[in-house]
Amino acid sequence: MNHWDVLIVGAGNAGLPCAIEAASLGLRTLLVEKDVRIGGCLHTTGGHLSAAGARRQQIAGIDDCVQWHLDDIDAITGGTHRDDIVRVAVEHAAEAVDWLDDNGFRFAPETPRIVYGHPPYRVARSYYGPDGGLSLLEVFSRLIDEQVSSGRLEVWTDSPLIDLEAGPSTINGQPQVAAATVLRRGTETRVAADAIVLATGGFAADADLFEAIEGFPLVSAAHPTDTGDGLVLAQHLGAALQGEGKFLPTFGGLPHPTTPGRVQWEDRPVLTTPERAPWEIYVDASGHRWVREDAESIDTKERALVDQVPDLVFWTIFDDRGRRESVPMVVGWSPQDIAEKANDRAGVYSAASIAELARTAGIDPPGLQATIDQYNRAVAVGRDDAFGREFLPAPIAEPPFFAMRNHGIALLTYAGLDVDVTARVRRSDGQVFANLFAIGEAMGGAATHGHAILSGMTCTPAIVYGRLVARDLAQKASKQQAVAP
Ligand SMILES: Cc1cc2nc3c(=O)[nH]c(=O)nc-3n(C[C@H](O)[C@H](O)[C@H](O)COP(=O)(O)OP(=O)(O)OC[C@H]3O[C@@H](n4cnc5c(N)ncnc54)[C@H](O)[C@@H]3O)c2cc1C
Repeated sequence: MNHWDVLIVGAGNAGLPCAIEAASLGLRTLLVEKDVRIGGCLHTTGGHLSAAGARRQQIAGIDDCVQWHLDDIDAITGGTHRDDIVRVAVEHAAEAVDWLDDNGFRFAPETPRIVYGHPPYRVARSYYGPDGGLSLLEVFSRLIDEQVSSGRLEVWTDSPLIDLEAGPSTINGQPQVAAATVLRRGTETRVAADAIVLATGGFAADADLFEAIEGFPLVSAAHPTDTGDGLVLAQHLGAALQGEGKFLPTFGGLPHPTTPGRVQWEDRPVLTTPERAPWEIYVDASGHRWVREDAESIDTKERALVDQVPDLVFWTIFDDRGRRESVPMVVGWSPQDIAEKANDRAGVYSAASIAELARTAGIDPPGLQATIDQYNRAVAVGRDDAFGREFLPAPIAEPPFFAMRNHGIALLTYAGLDVDVTARVRRSDGQVFANLFAIGEAMGGAATHGHAILSGMTCTPAIVYGRLVARDLAQKASKQQAVAP
């Protein structure tokens, strides 16, 4: 049997920095990854980070502090996040961003900036690289290679964790995990470690688990191997969940051209008002509007979607003038692209009449007609009594008419393993495992986002907690060495 100082499960946004830090502090570290390559969500994520007080922000002359970041988070989530975890993440965020900076991270030149895809912070404190998550992976991969060369780190890809074994004894009265079983390229391998860190991501690639825990049908942009394995295995040992009931979808994704239940993130609609004033209306399957389309904050629309549209499906409806004159609705598409893709690309429809459009798109025809009549009257008088919309540029009256089918999408899962502030997994009976940790999305997005979505507040806490847990373990190991006879 292998024995390691620390076993880290999952080589993604949280597991990679954890492994780098653990090995560089001298711990014999094993990193196991289910996928055939490392990176997890870093292959798709935007990789936005947020940090108050990072060096780059200071150089740009932006005044900011930890307290402002905490206050902004509080205002956006309405206090629905885990205050203790957010405080740790925010207090160490600048250090994490500076560490990336020290290690050659390529920042996109426009960063730090205010990002409007999520409720905006008061100052520019979001950072990312030109290649999104891949820019982070570029740095992590190099540092991982260095630690592998040092002999302190071993990485097993294509090697999923398949079992966790509860320890027969306790450590200082706390339950412990004794060993893990890893399917190393098809062979069951038992691994013992002084500590096990679950960095297995969320479960937004498992539709059944997602519906059972988050309570919504899944349309996902998550990494395909993020199927909640760490969560399920820890639950077998009595681990509790946190963050249930707080899921918030990201606003709008077109159906994937070939794969049901997934979105194509590259073809995402831009439905954020500060970036693009909406010429369209949003309707549900009955043809009814359900939100003020020009709401300032995307948060208002995301919350309305979960509250008003249980299946999270909605259509944007516009006419030919809206197609020509509004800023194009989908990233990378021109107005001409919309016309060409209509009735060809999944989820994009056009027709000569509203009734025909509704039938083709799957919306109730009388319902849609009544809504458009009402909306056009609101445009004529310059007042939208139904929802208080203020941007009323033109009626929806010029054929052909267009509909784009959208679904609220899961970029991440909100429920996760309950942990204490040091990321040790907590059981349902309140006891905390002495040597089992959950970091990154495995601890649930709601820990840092509450019932909201904050710029950079999954990627940054994943890195922060990855490094802090490794330091905590290294410190404990050195203390044990000091007292050893
Ligand atoms: C399209 C998209 C855009 C996003 N944009 C942002 C953003 O800009 N900013 C932000 O903060 N957040 C963003 N997020 C969310 C954020 O990227 C993720 O929540 C975060 O990267 C997850 O990190 P992680 O390490 O917890 O999981 P991952 O990076 O997914 O890593 C988990 C790893 O565990 C592995 N694994 C799973 N099960 C096992 C097992 N049994 N054994 C071994 N390994 C296993 C997986 O294969 C995977 O490699 C975005 C997400 C998506 C999908």
